Amino acid sequence: MKKHNFSAGPSILPQEVFQKASQAILDFDNTGLSLIEISHRSKEFVAVYDKAVALVKEILNVPATHEVLFLQGGASTQFLMTAINLMKVDGGKSAYINTGAWSNKALKEAKNFGEVVEVASSADTNHNYIPKGYQIPTDVDYVHFTSNNTIFGTQFKNYPETDAVLVADMSSDIFSKPVDVSKFGIIYAGAQKNLGPAGATLVIIKKDILGNTGRTIPSMLDYQIHIKGESMFNTPPVFAIYVSMLNLEYMKAQGGLEAISQKNEEKAALLYNEIDNNPSFVNNVAKEDRSLMNVVFLLNDDSKDADFLAACTAAGISNVKGHRSVGGFRASIYNAMPIESVQALVDVMKKF
Ligand code: PLP
Repeated sequence: MKKHNFSAGPSILPQEVFQKASQAILDFDNTGLSLIEISHRSKEFVAVYDKAVALVKEILNVPATHEVLFLQGGASTQFLMTAINLMKVDGGKSAYINTGAWSNKALKEAKNFGEVVEVASSADTNHNYIPKGYQIPTDVDYVHFTSNNTIFGTQFKNYPETDAVLVADMSSDIFSKPVDVSKFGIIYAGAQKNLGPAGATLVIIKKDILGNTGRTIPSMLDYQIHIKGESMFNTPPVFAIYVSMLNLEYMKAQGGLEAISQKNEEKAALLYNEIDNNPSFVNNVAKEDRSLMNVVFLLNDDSKDADFLAACTAAGISNVKGHRSVGGFRASIYNAMPIESVQALVDVMKKF
């Protein structure tokens, strides 16, 4: 039986995508070759890459000022790439909004390259809200934030207002709703939640913000080199890009981000509604900042945690244990999670 997979990532993708991907491993487009054994510079793979980039541009309405890249090294490499490509050698300064483990890691990496100002933090309450009303200095090279906090279950509903270059780690909510890409200098996301398999990292970057730091950037970390090489400065993660392309096709066929966003709202409402109305469960996140992707909750009586997990397992529900730094439970309900699976979890909660 296929499980209801609430994993935070790598996570569920549409079944149709898995089916097409498995066929391409055996015989890609009737070439008699596996997708995995063809050259990344073959016309067949270049067509896959071009299609993936074109679909990202179409689905996210990426303006001509921005370039789309598929890189390696995960979002974690973007923590340092953003800083090394944007922070000036002389008097470099950046602003970070600290909303949890991932933004904190990004902030730490940036400290290797210049002054970092933590303009706001939610650490005082173990990151159960999104800070508001903070001041962003005007003399920074860029402002960084994490749009959705995968571990703590919070999400920016309004993005920071600034005239500085805006950089966002959108690893866990990219493609979950429409975004005005023109407002951003850089958007990056590890693929392994709403896009595709781990191994590809999507980067959307405004070209005219590059080349201004006065520093020598190692080739593999230099966005300008990757833009020039169309993500093929080194061998790209061909399988991860192919599966991402299939998933982008699927997103388009679903009606794009407006339609996807509406479904995500419905799924999240179903689950939060149960948490709020069932006296056994509680969610401690500020209501207006609740994530539509990662729903965290606790049992009021945590001595029953193991029993609840056992009830979930018996119902074919997997990966609902909370992150080790928070405890409790976390149901990740990314795009590909069917509402029937959310209902299956709600049914277990009701019975419990
Ligand atoms: N940023 C966010 C918001 C994440 O959720 C994760 C991983 O879950 C990361 C960054 C790290 O991504 P990667 O493992 O691709 O480096």
